[in-house]
Amino acid sequence: MTKTVVALPGEGIGIEVVDATCDLLVGAGLPLKILTPPQTDGATPTVAGFVPDETKRTAREADGVLFGAAGPATTNVVSWLRWGMQAWAGMRPIRFRPGMRSPLADPEGIDYVIVRENSEGIYPGREGELADLARVMPDLRDRSGRTVKEYGDGRFAVKIVTPAGVERVARFACRLARARKAKGKPGKVTCVTKSNVLRRTDGLFHEITERVVREAGDLTFEHFHVDDASRRLVRFPKSMDVVLCMNQYGDILSDLGAETVGGLGLAPSGNFGDGWAYFESVHGSAPDIAGRGIANPTATILSAAMMLEHMGLGAEAARLDAAVGRTYREGKTLTPDQGGAATTRQMAQAVLAAYRNA
Ligand code: NAD
Repeated sequence: MTKTVVALPGEGIGIEVVDATCDLLVGAGLPLKILTPPQTDGATPTVAGFVPDETKRTAREADGVLFGAAGPATTNVVSWLRWGMQAWAGMRPIRFRPGMRSPLADPEGIDYVIVRENSEGIYPGREGELADLARVMPDLRDRSGRTVKEYGDGRFAVKIVTPAGVERVARFACRLARARKAKGKPGKVTCVTKSNVLRRTDGLFHEITERVVREAGDLTFEHFHVDDASRRLVRFPKSMDVVLCMNQYGDILSDLGAETVGGLGLAPSGNFGDGWAYFESVHGSAPDIAGRGIANPTATILSAAMMLEHMGLGAEAARLDAAVGRTYREGKTLTPDQGGAATTRQMAQAVLAAYRNA
């Protein structure tokens, strides 16, 4: 039965990698109808446009949604996909495949998943003037006893952590760790916070995650403060399984993790809410290389593979994933970030050839 996919490329290299990926999916003969509704109304290159209601409806009704990358004109697209639709869990696999250009001496075997709490924490921005905060919370003091007023002029951002928000993402991380354990992984959830400093907000995230994982009974729990965690992802990446991070920490650490296996162009993601999911590369619109046809399409192709699995096309997803692995192993048709000379399209077509020959 034909399934419907909505492709929203965003801008910059998002357009190049989504086009190449959609051509690959069509070339592979997958039972998909790919729709590309208008992304925004009233956008200019520097001013964000609004996502048309009809586009929202089409995306909500689709079997799969593939996004490219946002920039200044399309920031509302990702805001709607992620925050508007409450995609509260970001799943970001970090996996080395032989042939990927890792800066580490021994990357073989790196295979873990960052789960990013997507909807709370310090994103999406709730910011304001310190004077307003001082008015409504005159007794709020920092750890040294200073009131907000004592800081004088300035701005603030609000960090939100709710028990319900932590619990649902901790349960998501447990389900993922359990599914991985069934395939031979250690069955471990590593929680990342800064609970030694932000004792109430990060402390709550740490406490609830620890309770949920320990109550699960079949999984191992560990916790690292985010500074220590960043070091461990470089030094001991193979010791990681499922790494559950508060929103901003997950944002930062997933770029770091991507780089350890070869670069931002390799990192896919799936974003899940209640009855909603969409898939996108971790990277942005990369204005420094946009329009040159040299962006690495791997992150988007692997995001598409995650989307296929979510849509019930598990065998096709595994075949596409394997085709990416083979393309790297052969090493003949890679983009410049991986030391090759191929264009985005040539690399995606090489993955298609590997898919066909599987
Ligand atoms: P970026 O991820 O666009 O680029 C960072 C670096 O990685 C650049 O040097 C870029 O050339 C390189 N890179 C990224 N993807 C690549 C690929 N597929 N192949 C080869 N090299 C690749 O981050 P940035 O430059 O900080 O942000 C640019 C814009 O993207 C900003 O407007 C930012 O807000 C937006 N952004 C959007 C998302 C998203 O849509 N989810 C994520 C991050 C940044």
